[in-house]
Amino acid sequence: MLIEDNKILAEGIYKNLKEIGYLVDLFNDGELGLYALETTTYDLLILDLGLPIIDGIEIIKKLRKSKHALPILVISARDKLDQKILGLETGADDYLCKPFDMEEVIARVQALLRRSKNNLTHIITYNDLTYNTKTFILTKGNTVIELSKRELKIFECLLQNQNAIVSKENIVEHITTMDDDFNPTAVETYISRLRKKLGLSINIKTVRGLGYIMN
Ligand code: CA
Repeated sequence: MLIEDNKILAEGIYKNLKEIGYLVDLFNDGELGLYALETTTYDLLILDLGLPIIDGIEIIKKLRKSKHALPILVISARDKLDQKILGLETGADDYLCKPFDMEEVIARVQALLRRSKNNLTHIITYNDLTYNTKTFILTKGNTVIELSKRELKIFECLLQNQNAIVSKENIVEHITTMDDDFNPTAVETYISRLRKKLGLSINIKTVRGLGYIMN
């Protein structure tokens, strides 16, 4: 996710990241950005500090308060160097001074993503199920449960967002890349297969008009 109110700069970063294959959500003010952060799962946040409505520092504080482990790359003007210290102390992971080269942004993004992947624990447990996000193996006790790649990715998406409503669009984003053509209504089919295959081990509720929630 990218939150930057300078539209030209924002478009530039957005375009460059998209070109190398990242999916990017772009917001131009802090309020909309924060709302999206609270309702959607992201791998990384690129954050400007001076933002309309809610500023960057406030966003970092809010995220860290709710124990968000999201890697944050702060981008800000050189004359706000004191904010660098503030940003890092508040919980940003890295800092880049404006103006910067796009190559530098990409390098920092890749480094942060690598670091966070290495730090993440790969095992998620849910009721009697254990899922390894690295090997994509789902087990119940000592038995491996056979799921298709898409079923697994959908299950993973619900698993990572336990107790939160996940829309069909969120699910589609999670299981596809930009070039895939995937109809959100097909999600229903996969959900019913998951319910069938996982039986009592899972509790996926349909929230009419909004999506699904796994408690
Ligand atoms: Ca700004």
